[in-house]
Amino acid sequence: MNASAGQFNAAVPYPRLSLFGKVYEVDYIPSRRAKSAAVGADRIAVLFPPAAPPEAWKSFLARFYKEQLDAVLPAMLATWSVQLGVNPSGYAVKRMHTRWGTCNPHTRQIWFSLMLADVALPLVEYIVAHELCHLLEASHNARFKFLMTNAMRDWRTRVQELNHPAVRLDVYTAASL
Ligand SMILES: [Zn+2]
Repeated sequence: MNASAGQFNAAVPYPRLSLFGKVYEVDYIPSRRAKSAAVGADRIAVLFPPAAPPEAWKSFLARFYKEQLDAVLPAMLATWSVQLGVNPSGYAVKRMHTRWGTCNPHTRQIWFSLMLADVALPLVEYIVAHELCHLLEASHNARFKFLMTNAMRDWRTRVQELNHPAVRLDVYTAASL
């Protein structure tokens, strides 16, 4: 570890954040009033109160990642709903540590894990298509795989990438996030 990279700043519990498969350096700006995060090309500028407790950071980051997902999910859902010929009733992002997504085929409601903010957008897109496909076929049977292949030819490659991501900072595994 070299000196410049190794200087630990206790005021910034997250010196790097990953977002959609890319790692960003965090520029921390202490601010007594504002809490915000702005994503640049390679850096994320975070305004946050100094000496904030870890729980405050975790809930702030959870909100930030949820906002990032809410910025991309509606367009993906619209595109893949047309592609698959389905009509979801709504979606929500929630804390799920064991699944990327889930759905209720009867109410046509879909839930996405906050962890999806960690992976590249084509992999988010795969989960969107996967959950929408469940509105046509509830189980992972041959029909489900046939429908997926028809809609997204390279879905198996995307599954492999999801299981072996290039980037994983594990901020999402924090108990309260
Ligand atoms: Zn499934």
